Amino acid sequence: MENEEIIESYPKYVMNTYGRQPIAISHGKGIKVWDNNDNEYMDLFAGIAVNNIGHAHPNILNALKEQSEKLIHCSNIYYNENQLKLAKLLNKFILNTKVFFANSGAEANEGAIKLARKYTKKTEIISTKNSFHGRTLATITATGQPKYSEPFKPLPAGFKHVKFGDIDELKNTINDKTAAIILEVIQGEGGIVTADITYFKEVEKISKENNILLILDEVQTGFGRCGKMFASELFNLNPDITTVAKAIAGGFPMGAIIANEKVAEGFEIGDHGTTFGGTPLACAVAIASINTIIDENLIENSQNLGKYFKNELLKLKNKYDFIKDVRGYGLMIGVELAIKCSDIVDKAREKGFLINCTAEKVIRLVPPLIIKKEEIDIFIKAMNEIFIEISN
Ligand SMILES: *Cc1c(COP(=O)(O)O)cnc(C)c1O
Repeated sequence: MENEEIIESYPKYVMNTYGRQPIAISHGKGIKVWDNNDNEYMDLFAGIAVNNIGHAHPNILNALKEQSEKLIHCSNIYYNENQLKLAKLLNKFILNTKVFFANSGAEANEGAIKLARKYTKKTEIISTKNSFHGRTLATITATGQPKYSEPFKPLPAGFKHVKFGDIDELKNTINDKTAAIILEVIQGEGGIVTADITYFKEVEKISKENNILLILDEVQTGFGRCGKMFASELFNLNPDITTVAKAIAGGFPMGAIIANEKVAEGFEIGDHGTTFGGTPLACAVAIASINTIIDENLIENSQNLGKYFKNELLKLKNKYDFIKDVRGYGLMIGVELAIKCSDIVDKAREKGFLINCTAEKVIRLVPPLIIKKEEIDIFIKAMNEIFIEISN
């Protein structure tokens, strides 16, 4: 089928929940993808920071093939070696922790909220404005953007929102019912926005003093995206709970709650579960993906090429007034404009580049971590052309 036929037939059969780009993606290799009309694109979106090791990586394909021939699924009422291996691997990066395997970011956050309430025996969860934590009822309520939750009232009770980066407001919102503070180290959907180290360290301190858990939502920032395995390392943070998903298994669906050993004891037998959490197949693919990030030095690449990329974008900022800011860590980069960016996304796609616009005015660049300098140069050249066009 061609793009047009697919796009025309969609509304009759598929629920209309996404504002989609007008192409159907057919296949990919490395940082390239092709649509159903055989147009080639450089993918600087990576399925929203999911395909960190690129498309169709042989290590992922091998893991999928080998494990699917052996065992795809068994129930969590049995033990499975792959789950243990993956939990041990994650424990190398976030020390002294235990893992609960889920299937998505929202599900990981939902579980983290349950764990925080169960462990602390307190009820309230504080999150930040402009945050994003997922689409379940509890996670849209935690999400600090009313547009996601307003139409779905009544919402679960026990959620409060404070300004990201404002330590006084946080102090004034904490009370003896506060169970946890949930934060993205870098707000992804919110426009690649972060706070300074003093804020994060103060949040950590306040949490400890008040017996409140610090939950870091690393669903988007994890697995090398920000030039570290996890963004918590950027600010030397030790959260009680880390939630992950997106890039954990290189595109295969998976999420996880990673809690320190003590907090993890909050969940007892029967407290939480999910049919597909940590299947032998998902775990095998996650292990392959994480090992690839390590073996191919992709964290280093994220750091170095992230710096290079930002620097090249800053050169564009010097040329064009409507570029307000270039920010981010590693290969999680935001380019804030004075104008809406949807038009630029269309122009980029027409030139063969997939990019994303978030928070209306921020171009979000989250390419696969395997991207090369020459590829960044090609993209920068194209963006320069687009910027010339819209300046006229
Ligand atoms: C994408 C995202 C989620 C939700 O993950 P899903 O897998 O879509 O449920 C939660 N938190 C953050 C920070 C995200 O970027």
